[in-house]
Amino acid sequence: MDKKILLIYTGGTIGMNSSENGYFPQKGFLQELLKEIHVLRNEKMPEWELLELDPLLDSSNVTVNEWNKIGSIVKENYDSFDGFVILHGTDTMAYTASALSFTLENLSKPVVITGSQIPLFEVRSDGLDNLVTAMMVAAEGRINEVALCFGNKLIRGNRSTKVSTSNLNAFSSPNYPLLADIGTQVYYNTMIPQKEADLPFRVQHLDKIPIGIIKVFPGIQFEYFEEIMTKSLRGIVLETFGAGNIPGSADAILPIVKKAYENGTVLVICSQCLKGSVSLGAYETSVALKNAGAVCGYDMTTEAAVSKLYYLFSCGYDVQTVKQKMEEDIAGEITRI
Ligand code: ASP
Repeated sequence: MDKKILLIYTGGTIGMNSSENGYFPQKGFLQELLKEIHVLRNEKMPEWELLELDPLLDSSNVTVNEWNKIGSIVKENYDSFDGFVILHGTDTMAYTASALSFTLENLSKPVVITGSQIPLFEVRSDGLDNLVTAMMVAAEGRINEVALCFGNKLIRGNRSTKVSTSNLNAFSSPNYPLLADIGTQVYYNTMIPQKEADLPFRVQHLDKIPIGIIKVFPGIQFEYFEEIMTKSLRGIVLETFGAGNIPGSADAILPIVKKAYENGTVLVICSQCLKGSVSLGAYETSVALKNAGAVCGYDMTTEAAVSKLYYLFSCGYDVQTVKQKMEEDIAGEITRI
């Protein structure tokens, strides 16, 4: 195949070695492993090069720094490769996929993120299947967006979420159809149109914006969260019950949300349910949030909401614009109903 793919290894199980303290990412280890895998040099495979991030990280240690590093690598190599495969740990893969879907603006090439539940060096590894499929998707060029390839699914990056610690089909796309089913072939969903990149490709640098996630639970005492909600954080994703409901009387949360709003903190309402959309105002229990200026996250995953907050604040928008754009679809991450 006359296509050329850049593999970017960030760390994560797929390329890890083992030690008495468990699996860990080791510099150069994946490069050596890949040399032994002959199928990667099969004529049906694209040409490829591997680049490793320094340091390699278990993905639980990934921050905006790594999202910026990946963005810079894609940018520097954009014209030299037909597609990009990012090898990443599964724990925060959905966050990285979401973040890149925002920061890699006007993509006209595939960026496919993958990894594995079992390291490549182990005999039962799922890594080779995932890697080979991700490389083929990146070479085929049928998609020009950030996608997550894992098990039998190709998922829009900002619609993905990790749903299993152990299943080899570890990711789901709860609120959006799959980009492709992966079986004996990659069956692309032709109903999902790919956007034309009308402007030149660019990468938005992300800043370390103070952002938080608060998951409500029965009996939550909001007063203990007041300080961080009103002073410390610029963006908060509130994971509410069902379609956006919060426990307690409206009197408990309303003043805090109002204070947060006055302080310029953007409060985004997402749901603890995997499927479906937030609908603020549908129940009495969510009216307070709406009235106090909270933003509706509709069917966005928490991963998409968090990375979108990083992105919009890093773009330098004022609070009103951030709030407005949080409710708009900017990279296929939200369906408003
Ligand atoms: N802890 C690992 C990581 O996220 C898990 C994995 O890759 O599956 O880097």
